Amino acid sequence: MERRRYDVVVVGGGPAGCMAARYAAKAGVSTLLLEEHASIGEPVHCAGLLSTRALAEGELENPEWCVSREIKGAVIYSPSHQLLLESPTQRAYAVRRDRFDQALANAAVKAGAELMLKCTVKMVQIGDAGCMLTVATETPKVTREITARVVIGADGVRSTVARSAGLRTTQRYLHCGQIEGDYEAESNYAEIFVGKGVAPGFFAWAIPLDTRRRARIGLCIDRQCASQTNPLAFLKRNLAEHRVLARKFGGAVFLRSAGTIPLPMDGGKRKKTLHVAHGSGILLVGDAAAQIKPITGGGVYYGLRCGKLAGAQAAQACLTGDMTVLHDYERRWRAELGREIAFGLMVHRLRCVMNDRDYDTLIRTISESELVERIAAKGDMDYPSLALRGLIRNPQLLPLMARSIVKYLYTRWSKVN
Ligand SMILES: Cc1cc2nc3c(=O)[nH]c(=O)nc-3n(C[C@H](O)[C@H](O)[C@H](O)COP(=O)(O)OP(=O)(O)OC[C@H]3O[C@@H](n4cnc5c(N)ncnc54)[C@H](O)[C@@H]3O)c2cc1C
Repeated sequence: MERRRYDVVVVGGGPAGCMAARYAAKAGVSTLLLEEHASIGEPVHCAGLLSTRALAEGELENPEWCVSREIKGAVIYSPSHQLLLESPTQRAYAVRRDRFDQALANAAVKAGAELMLKCTVKMVQIGDAGCMLTVATETPKVTREITARVVIGADGVRSTVARSAGLRTTQRYLHCGQIEGDYEAESNYAEIFVGKGVAPGFFAWAIPLDTRRRARIGLCIDRQCASQTNPLAFLKRNLAEHRVLARKFGGAVFLRSAGTIPLPMDGGKRKKTLHVAHGSGILLVGDAAAQIKPITGGGVYYGLRCGKLAGAQAAQACLTGDMTVLHDYERRWRAELGREIAFGLMVHRLRCVMNDRDYDTLIRTISESELVERIAAKGDMDYPSLALRGLIRNPQLLPLMARSIVKYLYTRWSKVN
């Protein structure tokens, strides 16, 4: 690492960071991308389910290289019912996240960004000389200081950059566990499992991989509505006892992982994702900024969208010398995704108070009505509110919605008192 001064330093080589580095470098400013691991994309903590739109958003030369399988729809299982959702137009992919992230990093380097692996950022401070990053490198094992005019914190859910800058974007997390295992998968369908005992506050999944008898099987839980707090305990129990998962699971496990998804803060608690002072700036992007879909936990598409905005805005600030343009980053990403995230948080709060009977009512009502076609036609993985807004206002579901709202308000009231 010869150079010690850059216009833009991006911390974290995940999708959001790679895209931010690519867009900053493409605009012509000196850009450094720092990643703590020895290789990009590993270890993988992701189910790898991406919409066609998300895959295209990566702007990769050869996106097929990252695809394990095309996904045509989903089968949703509640405790006693099931629902098949299939859209003629909307498609998704089971993606190899290691390859996807590597391809994104290669594209950033091709655009002119410098990539440094095995470099862990310990701290970022803003002073008169710009943003000062304290970086621990592994070979040689030393601590160095690098300065930047703009730092983009794309360092994931436990962001060091966010902590250093006093930017707190989340207070609540989803805790997840996943395996890759032997499984009699539905060949081109994702399977989703809901139920209080299956994955409290969220859902479990089985995503088919390239070989017929292998799937990523996992779940997340929200500990605020779970009796047990270890997601792996739920996963183990589902694989042993769930009416579908236990029957289809073959017993062999090839990979195990655990992970965390940040839930954004909403309303009055919402915090900024940037800090500008002394003619320098710090921006947060991706999981570090809690830019995720609260309904599905997916963060890759939003990370890519916001990575582009952050990289372009950081470059513009450096090229014009006007750091106030960084405020446009916050304004633009919230204008694009803020309403969707707020809606997702509302759905998440209601789902947290639903019991198994409620889930059965929901799935049965949808499968027995014209709502199935409506969801299939309007359903959009990246903007789930498009289909769900109509759903929660549907007269057939009003009693369930009313009951859930009352339960939610009662739970909140009991916590406050
Ligand atoms: C179990 C699970 C399943 C998921 N499934 C899906 C899915 O199917 N679809 C989807 O869209 N999303 C999914 N997500 C969410 C998705 O993985 C994240 O939203 C996405 O990876 C966020 O990208 P990012 O670039 O912001 O952060 P990350 O991908 O977390 O990348 C952050 C990078 O920063 C590096 N880093 C961290 N700290 C430092 C430091 N101090 N110095 C240097 N480098 C550092 C890390 O090593 C990492 O490479 C899932 C998450 C989990 C946990």
